[in-house]
This record gives sequence, structure tokens and C-alpha cells, in this order.
Amino acid sequence: MDYDLIVVGGGLGGAALAKALAARGARVLVFEREKEFKDRVRGEGMHPWGVAEARALGIYGPLIETCGHQVRWWSVYLAPTTRYRRDLIETTPQHAGCLDFYHPEMQRVLLGLAESVGAEVRTGVAVTAVVPGKPPAVLARANGQDEQYRARLVVGADGRSSRVRAWAGFPVKRDPERLVIAGVLHAGLGAPEDSVQVLHSPSIGQGALVFPIGRQRFRSYFIYRKRGTPRALSGRQHAADFVTACVETGAPPEWYRDAEVAGPLAAFEAADIWVEHPHRQGVALIGDSAAASDPSWGCGLSLTLRDVRVLRDQLLAKTDWEAAAGAYAEEHDRYYGALHRLEGWFTELLYEVGAEADARRARVFPRLAREPKRTPDVPGLGPDAPNDEAARRLFFVED
Ligand SMILES: Cc1cc2nc3c(=O)[nH]c(=O)nc-3n(C[C@H](O)[C@H](O)[C@H](O)COP(=O)(O)OP(=O)(O)OC[C@H]3O[C@@H](n4cnc5c(N)ncnc54)[C@H](O)[C@@H]3O)c2cc1C
Repeated sequence: MDYDLIVVGGGLGGAALAKALAARGARVLVFEREKEFKDRVRGEGMHPWGVAEARALGIYGPLIETCGHQVRWWSVYLAPTTRYRRDLIETTPQHAGCLDFYHPEMQRVLLGLAESVGAEVRTGVAVTAVVPGKPPAVLARANGQDEQYRARLVVGADGRSSRVRAWAGFPVKRDPERLVIAGVLHAGLGAPEDSVQVLHSPSIGQGALVFPIGRQRFRSYFIYRKRGTPRALSGRQHAADFVTACVETGAPPEWYRDAEVAGPLAAFEAADIWVEHPHRQGVALIGDSAAASDPSWGCGLSLTLRDVRVLRDQLLAKTDWEAAAGAYAEEHDRYYGALHRLEGWFTELLYEVGAEADARRARVFPRLAREPKRTPDVPGLGPDAPNDEAARRLFFVED
């Protein structure tokens, strides 16, 4: 056996897992196809429930000391009139704000950390195939040469378009297309740097998000219905249309007055893509390759770190790594299933349009405002928020 663990992909999931296992003495090899990390329009705002996972994995400190930006407040605007601001440190079980960062910086920091505790990190090397089995094998191409390695466990951490998932023969499930999310990096936006901004305009099926990521940089998103008004929002030439759409959704126009576009503008299908039981024959999937949850709800980073922590705990607790990875996959089905259900409720309430959806909101919103405990606390609890039928009825005021 060449290694205990081979990780395909050095994003948040792969780098954090490599660091966690190498720090406990495992022989770990990471393949990351990029040499330099550039802006790909990816998650940069982590919920407090993800911060709890980052702390448990020992990466919160290194991130906050280098590229991290703690955001204390969660400001919500619900058109036409509702506004509130939540103090995350005071009101979450973790007493934590959001952890925001510029994604390429976070990747560099975590891969460096993995290397510093003994993981072998090979950047600029793409994996070309994974062969499940006992043991599983990984094929990679470097400097024009094909290489092959075997390990006790191979982990696919290669993102939402995972090839490892396909090579290992995992059947993929997808939600119907519903929302599209477009995002861009703004420098010098006029929004506060200590608050995430969440804006919803449900009657027109639109949302907007702003994550401050430090040093006057902000990741801005606009979310809209796939079946609504057709919009071309990929490519910097559409940056002005992007701002118009955010303003239409409720963002103050003055935020954008002196803002500069500091990266690509890109739009993505938001529908969930996932596999059930993300482990088979020596191959486990984590992060987006196991379940890419709808980015409109900003849970992907937190979910990825939950995967890393649960898999790490299983691998450290058991000598039989097939059994350990199987136990992780069972647990993954439970918490991802819960998150998927909760996010589905929010999508239904906030993005469905038409008379029936408006009538539902007219009934539900005043009760949620009077009794906030009816709303599942996704920032604070994520998949651990109650998500059974009783919780659904409470949220939709059907009790
Ligand atoms: C538009 C958008 C907005 C988002 N916003 C948020 C947000 O606000 N909050 C949040 O929590 N989440 C958000 N997310 C989700 C978040 O970005 C992901 O959940 C998270 O990045 C997943 O991390 P990962 O490590 O699984 O995958 P990735 O970050 O995709 O990393 C995968 C890595 O694998 C490498 N790789 C791929 N194939 C190979 C190969 N064959 N060989 C070697 N390396 C390979 C890639 O280069 C990459 O570095 C958003 C996602 C999108 C698309």
C-alpha cells in the first residue's frame, strides 16, 4: 500500500481532511489539478454551524489569523417592509459569527497547513481515473507520465462536477431545475463589513446576498427563478445588469455607486446534486462531490466540513476503514437529507410565485414575525434544526 489515504481535490474538503488525518500520523497524498488558485465564484460565507465544525477540525484559528473575516451580524430584508438584524454571536448555540474569506486564499492556507503536518500535496496534477476495489487505485498524469497509486481509502473531494463519483459508479440524483445563482466579487461596495446581507423579494421570485470577505471586498449574489424572466448574467459585460437585478430585489443603489467589479461574473444552476450513501469499494465522497446543496442557502462550506469531521472521527475510531467509511456514509444520508428538506421548505416559501404562493406568504409571514421560533435556525443549527413533519407544519403555520 502506497498511502493510507489518497484525496482527489484540494478544495476546502480535501485540504481539511488531509490536514486532519496527516496530523494524526496517517500517510496522506493529495492531488489538486490547479497550481494557482483563481476566483471561480465559490462559497465564501460559512454559517456558525460550519464554524463549529471548523473549530472541531482545528482550522478556525489558522483561517481567522490569515484570510478569515468574522461577521457578527445577519441582516435580513424581506420586501416590501420587513427588516431585522440578528446578532449571531449572541444568539447562536456556538456563540459564533459567520466565517467569511476569499476562496483562493482559504485553499492556499489549508493546503499549506496539510503539508505542514506531513501530507504530501501535489498541485498541478490531475487525477485521470479512480478504480474502486480492495484496495482502490488512483491514476494521475504528471509531467507527461502516467502514475498509479494504491491506498487503504480514496476520497473524492473534487467538487460539484466530480469525476471520481462517475469513475466509482455512484448513481447521481438531481433536483428539478428551480433557481439560478449569479455571483461576482465587488471591491469597495458601500455595505457594512460586519454583516451578511440577505434580501428577498418573494413576489417576484428573487433574492440577493452580500458576504463581506474583508479588506473592503464583498461577494455579491443574485438568485432568480430558472423559469422566470430570462437573464444573461455570466460574463463581466453583464455587471451593470447584475447590479440592476440586485437593486430590483431590494439592495440600496448607493451600495454599488463606487463599487468595482474585481473578478468574473458567473451564473450557476442551483439545484442540488447528490449521491446516496457516498461510499463504495474503497472510495468515499465528501463535500460537493457527495452532495452539492443549493448555493442560494449558503450551506455548502458548512456541509463540507461536517463531512470532513464525521469521516475523520470514523477513520480515527476504527481500524477497519471500509467499515469506518460506510458508517460515515450512513451518517451523511441522515444530515444531508435533513438539510435538503429544510432548504426545500425555504425555497417553497420564498421563491414560488403566483396567487397561491402569495396567499401562503400572507398567512405565514405575520406569524413567523410574531413567533420567530417557528423558523428553523439554519445559520445556527443547519441540519440539526428540527426537520420532521411537526417542524414543517409549524413553519408553514399548518398546526
Ligand atoms: C455560485 C456558488 C456560490 C456559493 N456560495 C456559498 C456560500 O455562500 N456559502 C457556502 O457555504 N457555500 C457556498 N457554495 C458552495 C461551496 O462553494 C462548496 O460547497 C464548497 O466549495 C465545496 O468544497 P469542496 O472541497 O467539496 O469542492 P471544491 O471547492 O469544488 O474543490 C474541489 C477541488 O478539486 C479539484 N479537482 C477537481 N477535479 C480534480 C482532478 N481530477 N484531479 C485533481 N484535482 C481535482 C478542483 O481543482 C478543486 O480545487 C457556493 C457554490 C457556488 C457554485
